[in-house]
Amino acid sequence: MSEKAIASLSLDLDNKWSYMKTHGDAGWESFPSYLDVVVPRALRFLKERNLKITFFIVGQDAALDKNHDSLASISEAKHEIGNHSYNHEPWLHLYSKQELETEFERTETAMAKITDQKLIGFRGPGYSLSPTVLEVLAERNYEYDCSTLPTYIAPLARAYYFFKSPEMTDEEREKRKKLFGKFSDGFQSLKPYKWQIGEKSLVEIPVTTLPVFKTPIHASYLIYLSTFSKALARVYWKTAIEMCRMSGTPLSLLLHPLDFLSGEDAPELKFFPAMNLPIGEKLEFVSEILEVFTGKFEVVNMREHARLAAKENLESLDYAKQAA
Ligand SMILES: [Zn+2]
Repeated sequence: MSEKAIASLSLDLDNKWSYMKTHGDAGWESFPSYLDVVVPRALRFLKERNLKITFFIVGQDAALDKNHDSLASISEAKHEIGNHSYNHEPWLHLYSKQELETEFERTETAMAKITDQKLIGFRGPGYSLSPTVLEVLAERNYEYDCSTLPTYIAPLARAYYFFKSPEMTDEEREKRKKLFGKFSDGFQSLKPYKWQIGEKSLVEIPVTTLPVFKTPIHASYLIYLSTFSKALARVYWKTAIEMCRMSGTPLSLLLHPLDFLSGEDAPELKFFPAMNLPIGEKLEFVSEILEVFTGKFEVVNMREHARLAAKENLESLDYAKQAA
């Protein structure tokens, strides 16, 4: 069965506070956490399916003692740890180089408390990316980035970050508008490619969207569709997989904590789509998605995906020229 094509699986471990912060809700400043609930649940789920994936972790969470045990258990279970920024601000493309360096330094220091792994992979919050981010990644010897979401419908894809809160100030609203940066929207390739950054190169693994149509296919979106029609969500997912197979697109599937949580687990986040689904029903659907996925692909973590991709003759893009 070695003919199965490679695909990758990762989970962006956004914490409760980061959603509250983006939503503009009071109370995020004490960094409320659901990691002690979601991490054991996700680890058990992955273990039962014999999957080793990449968890993109936020530095601020790794820095806090209250999260130590749950975060350390991820690396102990032999999953890869990736960098998901320190502050989880989806406007990283507005940061100066100095600000980014500080952000990376703090994240790497905090991560050393929960894992011995050297961080070699990065995913910016809210798919934010800039030439400066790529420069900093290359300087710090990262091997891959997976912050691009090739889509024609950025506003819809990013609606995730755009729930309006009555408490949000005008200034906060303005900042959120800038989420629609030009940079990452310019790249429509679904296949891995290379950024040439001076002498160094970085593998880019885009978050896969539906070939041709470029609509989202991450698990949260599939679950959201299933709340309208399970049959529709199933057909959409199977179509996506077939289109990826036919076009030779190595699928990189993305999970989020809310795929493993119900509104009862996190009442503050009941405003999110599909948080009204009973947890049993939700997990059953996630299980179904993954069963189809692992049936068709050899599923690896992001590090392995990037290293295998690097051996191929990838298209090379000059990172600075893409910035205009
Ligand atoms: Zn995130």
